[in-house]
Order: sequence, then C-alpha cells, then structure tokens
Amino acid sequence: MSDATDHTIPRKRDHLLLNEAPAKPAPLVDAFQRRISYLRMSVTDRCDLRCTYCMPERMTFLPKREVLSLEELFELASGFIDRGVTKLRITGGEPLVRRDIMDLFTALGRRLGHDLQELTLTTNATQLATHADGLAKAGVRRVNISLDTLDRARFAELTRRDALPQVLEGIEAARDAGLKVKLNAVALKEVNEEELPDLIGWAHARGHDVTLIEVMPLGDVEEERLDQYLRLDTVRNRLEDRWTLTDNARSSGGPARYVDVAETGGQLGFITPHSNNFCASCNRLRVTATGQLYPCLGGNERVDLRAALRSDNPQEALAQGLDQAMAIKPERHHFRMDKRGADPALARHMSMTGG
Ligand code: SAM
Ligand code: SF4
Repeated sequence: MSDATDHTIPRKRDHLLLNEAPAKPAPLVDAFQRRISYLRMSVTDRCDLRCTYCMPERMTFLPKREVLSLEELFELASGFIDRGVTKLRITGGEPLVRRDIMDLFTALGRRLGHDLQELTLTTNATQLATHADGLAKAGVRRVNISLDTLDRARFAELTRRDALPQVLEGIEAARDAGLKVKLNAVALKEVNEEELPDLIGWAHARGHDVTLIEVMPLGDVEEERLDQYLRLDTVRNRLEDRWTLTDNARSSGGPARYVDVAETGGQLGFITPHSNNFCASCNRLRVTATGQLYPCLGGNERVDLRAALRSDNPQEALAQGLDQAMAIKPERHHFRMDKRGADPALARHMSMTGG
C-alpha cells in the first residue's frame, strides 16, 4: 500500500516487508502452559469521554514524553508478533484521539497476512466517522465499540460528555466502511440495568453482536464501586424471561461466554470476572502506552518494555522482557467486589491498561 506515511514508522524492521525470513523465536507460553497469542496494546491513556466507571472527571493524564512514540509502538508490537502473537487489539484510553494514529494502523496492517492474523481496535466511536474508511483500508475488519446506553441524557451523565449523536454516526460509518461491529456495554446497577434488553435488541437488529461486562474495581472513580456493580448472572436470568438464550460453543480464546438469542438472531457475550472466573483459558497480554507490560489485567506484575526498547540492543532486551512476562504471569486475578468503601483492587484505571 502506498501513501504519504510509508516511511514514517517501520524503520528498523524494513526486512519484514522484504519477505526475508529471520529465525523463528520461541512462542510465548507461560508457567501454566497457556499459549499467548493475543496482545492488547494501549496507544494513549487520554480520552475525550469520562465514563464514570472508568475515570474521575478530573483525570490526571500522563505527560506526553512518557508515552511511547508511534515508531516505538510499532517496534513493540512487532516484537510480540515475532513471538507468535497473531491477534493485536489497539486500545487506550481512546486510541482514535492520538495524533497520527492512522500511521500506526497502516504500518501494522502491512504485517497482516504474514504472521499477524487480525488487527482490531476498541473505541468509544466518537472519532470513528472520520477514521472508519482509513481503518478498513489498513486491513482492520472488526471493531469493538463501547456503548452503554442509547438514551442521550443518560449517555451524557454516564460519560460526562454529550456525545451520543457522534457515537451513533461513528457506528454507522463503521458499518458503511464494511467493518464488523461488536458493541461492549458495561452493566451498571440502576443506570442501564433496565435498558439492556432494548440496547441488545437495537444492536442485533443492525447485525451487531453485543458483549456485556461486569464492572471491575480498577482505579479510583468518584462513585462507590459496589453501587455500580451488577452481576451478569442476574441480567441473564432476566433476559431469559424475555428471550431464548442458547449457549454457543464459540470462544474468542478470551473471557466472554456466548449465547445465541433465538428471537433476535444475534449473539450475546458475558464477561463475568466476579461471578465466573475466566483465567484458565487466558491467552493475552496487555501493554500500556508507556510500554509497561501487565501480564494480568487484575494483577500488579509488570515488565518495563520501554526500558527494553530504549536500550542498546532493543530486540534482545524485548525478547528477555517477554520471557520474564511468561515467568510472572499469575494463574488468576483476585478482583473482589464484596466490600463497601474498599480501596480499588488496583490503583491503575482501565484507561491505562486498556480494556
Ligand atoms: N476508550 C475505548 C472504549 O471505551 O472503548 C477503549 C478503552 S476502554 C478502557 C475499554 C473498555 O473498558 C470499554 O469497553 C469500557 O467500557 C471498559 N471499562 C472501562 N473501565 C471499566 C471498569 N472499571 N470495569 C469494566 N469495564 C471497564
Ligand atoms: Fe474513555 Fe473508554 Fe474510559 Fe470511557 S471507557 S472514559 S471512553 S477510556
């Protein structure tokens, strides 16, 4: 693909584009014999929304100098792909607010069909109308869009920004660009609890699958977490009063369990870190925009890959960092949602590690 950005990102790795075949390094397998094939890479901690379950209104963002450059992010992702990561999700913060982010998608898209099988993103869709075509051109085929309500006033209250029309426009643009859209909704007690069936019905009528997520105690937010927490087994029971849900064998290798909804013809996923632990099949790693690798979303184990990237021998240091991550990836997370007024299980917000 030729465009004005051809020379901006993949400098040190031009051999990849020339079809040279470097020796295949060892795949990533952790101490519990889980094969790691999926990376979620955050490209910024910044966001244009302020979802009440994700961050406080006055969120302190990282100084920009601490964040990896687009070239470093490309190097980083390539290091993982070299070790057998076949699926890469770009996340944040809001990935589409990062300047020139399409250059990174374009560069990463060139690895598709070689060793990378899928390039995706998670977005709040506020900027998607601008970028949907570019993403499709870069090789993105599917996007996860976070949408917790279709009610404009509730959306404004929940995200602290009146941006629902932009988001709906973004979803429409993604569809027009041929991107397969999956909606993610965090189930929130007394906020969108009653609306969830309508949200699911709306999405399924447009051909979008939906995944519901239980809120997780990540970072300080202004609200009490227990007041937000809605168990998804309760939601499922209520949905079963209305619809026929049949367990479906599909697995994304991830934490979601899926059902088919007979009446809508759509698929519904449940991510239930509290009521059903999903760690045994975990195949993923997460890296923050500052290059900190967190082998577990729910743990404090960490490897500093920015230091590796900025060392004298980045490729070797990166490989060592990944080996270290395999050694320390914990067996499971230890989120708890049973104590009112408790400190968050982890100090960092979801916008830091990426959802
Ligand atoms: N800004 C993008 C978005 O909202 O899609 C990507 C990053 S966001 C952190 C990724 C996902 O994490 C979103 O689906 C969001 O709803 C979810 N999320 C954020 N904070 C959460 C929390 N404390 N518990 C559960 N899910 C959370
Ligand atoms: Fe931003 Fe996504 Fe967090 Fe909402 S969930 S504040 S859109 S990063």
